Amino acid sequence: MADLTLDHVSKFFDDGGSKVVAVDDASVTIEDGEFLVLVGPSGCGKSTTLRMIAGLETVSEGEIRLGDDRMDNRPPRDRDIAMVFQSYALYPHMTVRGNMRFGLEESTDMGDADIDELVEETSSMLGIADLLDRKPGELSGGQQQRVALGRAIVRDPEVFLMDEPLSNLDAKLRSQMRTELQRLQEDLGVTTVYVTHDQTEAMTMGDRIAILNDGELQQVATPLEAYHRPANRFVAGFIGEPSMNFFEMDVQGDELVGDAFSYELSAKSAEAVEGSERVTLGIRPEDVEVIDDAAADHAYETTVDVVEPMGNENAVYLELGGERRFVATVGGMRRVEAGESVVARIPEDAVHLFDAT
Ligand code: ADP
Repeated sequence: MADLTLDHVSKFFDDGGSKVVAVDDASVTIEDGEFLVLVGPSGCGKSTTLRMIAGLETVSEGEIRLGDDRMDNRPPRDRDIAMVFQSYALYPHMTVRGNMRFGLEESTDMGDADIDELVEETSSMLGIADLLDRKPGELSGGQQQRVALGRAIVRDPEVFLMDEPLSNLDAKLRSQMRTELQRLQEDLGVTTVYVTHDQTEAMTMGDRIAILNDGELQQVATPLEAYHRPANRFVAGFIGEPSMNFFEMDVQGDELVGDAFSYELSAKSAEAVEGSERVTLGIRPEDVEVIDDAAADHAYETTVDVVEPMGNENAVYLELGGERRFVATVGGMRRVEAGESVVARIPEDAVHLFDAT
C-alpha cells in the first residue's frame, strides 16, 4: 500500500489546432487508504485527471507516482488500479459471475477454485450472491452498480478510481449507496479517487475533497475546512446549498460600501482589507440571522421576496432597496411570508472576505 501522488500534472489536448488545457499543473498526494473526492463543474478536468491516473490518457507534463514508483509511463494493466465507471461497463453477454471473474483469470495466477471462492465472498459482501448466474440485462441499476464494484474489489488493487459511479441511480438508492460505498472503502482500506460534479456527494463522502475549476485545483481540504475556510470565491460559491451570498464592496477605511448596503468592519477585519480598493463580501444563507431587533449591529431592514420550502427549513429571498439581494436559511418554526418586512443580520464572525472579481 502506498500514497498516490500527482506532481505538477498537466494535460493539453489539441482541438483542431487550438490548445485546450484540460488539467493545469495539478499537485496533490492522496494518502494510503484515503477517500479523496475530486469535485467541480462539468468540463473542469475531473475525468481527464482520473483517466491519466488510470492510464487511459497520457500525461502532457508532470508525474504520477504510487509510493516512489513512477506510474504514468506504465501501460494501464501494469498500474494495479481498478476503475468503476458511471456506465458500469459490464459485459452484457456474461453472467455476474463471469463479469466478476473476468480480468482475474488473466491477471492473477490464482486457481479456478480460489477465484470462485473470492467471487462468492465478494458477492456476499455486496449482497448480490444470489444473482451470480444472471446477466446484466436481468438486473436493476443498483444491482448492476454492485457488480461493477464487485469486479473492482476482487482485483484487490492498490487504488480504486470511480467516475460518477452513482449518478445513474435514483435519489434514494444513491444516498443509500453513498453510505455503503464509504463503509466498504473504509473496511477495504484501498486508496480511492472518486469523481463527482455533485458538491453534496463530495461533502458527505470524502475524507478530503479536491475542488477543480477550469483545469486548476482550487483547494484540497476536508469538507469542513472547505466549507468554513474556502480558499477563494469559487470554492465558497461551489460548496454549500443554497450558495453563499456575495456582495461587491468598495473599501472606505473601515467601512465597506456596496450598492445594497454599507458594512462597518471591526479593526481586525479592516486591517485585513487595507490596501484593497474593492473586496467581495460573502455570507452563507445559514449564517444570515432573521431577528426582531432593527437596532442590532450589522442589521438591515429587508422585505421578503420569495419563501422556498426546503424540508424543515425555508430559503428566504430578501430584498434591499427594492431589489432581490440575498438569501437566508430560516428554521421552519419561524413563519415568514412574502411581502413581509424582516430584519436580517449579517454577523461579522460569519463574513468571508475575498479579492474582488
Ligand atoms: P469533466 O470530467 O470535469 O467534465 P473533462 O476532464 O471531461 O471534464 O474535460 C476537461 C476539458 O478537456 C473540457 O474542456 C473538455 O472539452 C476537454 N477535453 C476532454 N477530452 C478531450 C479530447 N479528447 N479532446 C479535446 N478536448 C478534450
